[in-house]
Amino acid sequence: MTRKLIAGNWKMNGSLEANEALLRAVLAGLPAALGADVAVCVPAPYLAQVQALCQGSPVAWGAQDVSAHERGAYTGEVSAAMLCDFGCRYVIVGHSERRQYHGETDEVVAAKAQRALSAGLTPIVCVGETQAQRDAGQTETVVQRQLAAVLQSVGAAAAGMVVAYEPVWAIGTGRTATPEQAQAVHALLRAQLRAALPDDRAVRILYGGSMNASNAAALLAQPDIDGGLVGGASLKADEFLRIVAAAA
Ligand code: PEP
Repeated sequence: MTRKLIAGNWKMNGSLEANEALLRAVLAGLPAALGADVAVCVPAPYLAQVQALCQGSPVAWGAQDVSAHERGAYTGEVSAAMLCDFGCRYVIVGHSERRQYHGETDEVVAAKAQRALSAGLTPIVCVGETQAQRDAGQTETVVQRQLAAVLQSVGAAAAGMVVAYEPVWAIGTGRTATPEQAQAVHALLRAQLRAALPDDRAVRILYGGSMNASNAAALLAQPDIDGGLVGGASLKADEFLRIVAAAA
């Protein structure tokens, strides 16, 4: 059975003081024999702090975005190599908030995934439909197009990535996809990975969108849901630990 991954996405939240309290509580609350992988994806300025607190612990860390460029005159951007300097294992790419507010296209997302993989990072590639797309019956077309762009661009290296299905209408809204709705899309994405990669099982498919301590177990029990990408609930140690427990 695939070992599940629970990754927190802190988004643009936190402070030195709050991060330390949160991480100390998470680290103290994890069981000694942890049955799942755990990570936090944090704002870039806090990577050094999170590295210092999590080094040697079962909690891996990562960033929420990476530049599609290797280095140079790209003011404000952070390169994959810089993330590696701070011990990152993961980086989220193509989060819907980046696609929506920063105009990231499938091509840009694919280039970022490629850059992350080349640097030895594990990109968490987000795909998902908006409410309007779901209502128009376009869910399958949208998520398959988003995943295909990355698969075509990175080829066999895609075995080193994680996929996150995040229906946009469920992110930060408190409206979680039902386990059946999520499973249906995960099965589709799994089939697409299977067709493209000889070792598709290496790629975990996470569900994201208002996952919390109450709904995590039912979602994680679905056969093609290999973990969770957790936004709001990752900012509360107790809630996050209960989601981790549901995955373990
Ligand atoms: C996210 O931002 O990736 C996310 C899933 O957010 P939330 O859990 O708050 O819906």
